Amino acid sequence: MASGTVLRGRGVSPGSVAAPVRHLAPALPEPDAGVTVPVEERETEASAIEWAAVAVADQLRSRTAQATGEARAILDASRLLASDPELVSEATALVRAKGRSAARAVWETAGAHEKSLAALGGRMAERVADIRDVRDRIIAEILEVDMPGVPESDEPFVLVAVDLAPADTAALEGGQCVALVTEQGGPTSHTAIIARSLGLPAIVGVAGATAIPDEAVLLVDGEHGTAEVDPAESSIAAAIAAATVVPFDGEGALGDGRPLALLANVGGAADAVNAAAAHADGVGLFRTEFCFLDRVDAPSVEEQVAAYRGVLAAFPGRKVVVRTLDAGSDKPLPFANADHEGNPALGVRGLRIARRTPALLDDQLRALAQATEAESAQVEVMAPMVATVEEARDFADRARAAGLSRVGIMIETPSAALLAAELFEIVDFVSLGTNDLAQYTLAADRLLSELGDLNDPWQPAVLRLIGMVGEAGRAAGKAVGVCGEAGGDPALAPVLIGLGVTSLSMTPRSLGRVAAAVAEVTEDDCRRAAHAVLATGTAAEARAAASAVLPGRGRA
Ligand code: PEP
Ligand code: MG
Repeated sequence: MASGTVLRGRGVSPGSVAAPVRHLAPALPEPDAGVTVPVEERETEASAIEWAAVAVADQLRSRTAQATGEARAILDASRLLASDPELVSEATALVRAKGRSAARAVWETAGAHEKSLAALGGRMAERVADIRDVRDRIIAEILEVDMPGVPESDEPFVLVAVDLAPADTAALEGGQCVALVTEQGGPTSHTAIIARSLGLPAIVGVAGATAIPDEAVLLVDGEHGTAEVDPAESSIAAAIAAATVVPFDGEGALGDGRPLALLANVGGAADAVNAAAAHADGVGLFRTEFCFLDRVDAPSVEEQVAAYRGVLAAFPGRKVVVRTLDAGSDKPLPFANADHEGNPALGVRGLRIARRTPALLDDQLRALAQATEAESAQVEVMAPMVATVEEARDFADRARAAGLSRVGIMIETPSAALLAAELFEIVDFVSLGTNDLAQYTLAADRLLSELGDLNDPWQPAVLRLIGMVGEAGRAAGKAVGVCGEAGGDPALAPVLIGLGVTSLSMTPRSLGRVAAAVAEVTEDDCRRAAHAVLATGTAAEARAAASAVLPGRGRA
């Protein structure tokens, strides 16, 4: 690919950075069971396993020495598994006795270990993932191919992939990846959300990205959605200078002095600490499922209490809105819903899981009540994916019975938006999940980059639904938050306020820009901008109408 080639996609997490490309290594195919190694070659084949296991244990030992905290404990557990004499001796025995290839023998032996661990259940079953990790490391070493997943590197790199699974994105924390570029994925996919929470510039929907050669330097501009191959030094310097984060002083207010809560979206204690350091006023969305993405079994109440306290402790005396588990669709949690559904976004996800396993919800509410008791944050709880008044009533009854006093729901379905007035008779507040609200209103899968133009909160149909909710909130005198990605769009913020939104929650990096945008407008400006967008018929017209009313404003 020629130097200076610019590939385009959808910028989903701001920031600019330049670094060499590394590709996500594909999953290892199952080694062929039909191969039989001739008797005279079996000794050499068996010793390949021994050598590979030693090499893997060595690599893990040196990586363990460099790591800290949780990463260190995980690496050390894998190192112990790689040095496990049983795994190696059983695999070499399979080569010697049955003539299996070295890779196949490791695969089968690991499979047998996985089965017995899974049968033990509980925390032991969670070690299945560790066994697979070690199996893949040893096989990759034997076959001299890259270990699948996020590459391990001591140097900063831009990760290029077709798309990322939740487990890949989880592996990015604390590593050397400095930006993400994927061929697929939509603006509100969890890859995009995690990139934003880790502060990694990211672009999705970049056709041809996987053809960029390994080690080519890529300049990623996550704001404008461009990726330039082997750029000139001067372009790198200019892009990085333009992408600096705007600091936030913690005082969200309109130009006429009306205070506006600017809150953070978090997925766990580490995020919450970052959000507090970025001066967020509180947490507008704690995505609790992010604490348990890799779990096979449901977390115990005690574990949940610890996870929730970690977030609450970062905001003493402040508002923290905790969302109950939003499992399913793009956030699969095997312990909540392991079904393969034809239309998972329309399936048993979010609050709907409680139809099948009410105990999962009740345990979570109990854990949250205990965490609330132990910390001083002002906890509010809300349910995702509510569509009916009965669902809201059942959730509110359960949450209040568990001892939680402020109870709300997310407005993510057109049904909930249309029923806002009735829902306000039941709950204390609502929070607009504009990512899903756009997905369901436009009937466009939020994971498909091809449909990114439909998954746009500026779509007039979405804005009109937000307006209905805002009006119902004003009539009821109750709070209407936005916690979808729209909450972090500086140009949209005045419009949302004009539509009746009373707080905005976003990735902490966006706080400064949104604060600067709202500080330039009055409540009256916001109402006029809202009135103008409600009269439009397309997303482009809505954007134009807002900027005509707020000339030169609202965009930081
Ligand atoms: C949303 O749908 O806007 C939302 C905030 O929830 P999530 O992105 O986690 O589905
Ligand atoms: Mg949602």
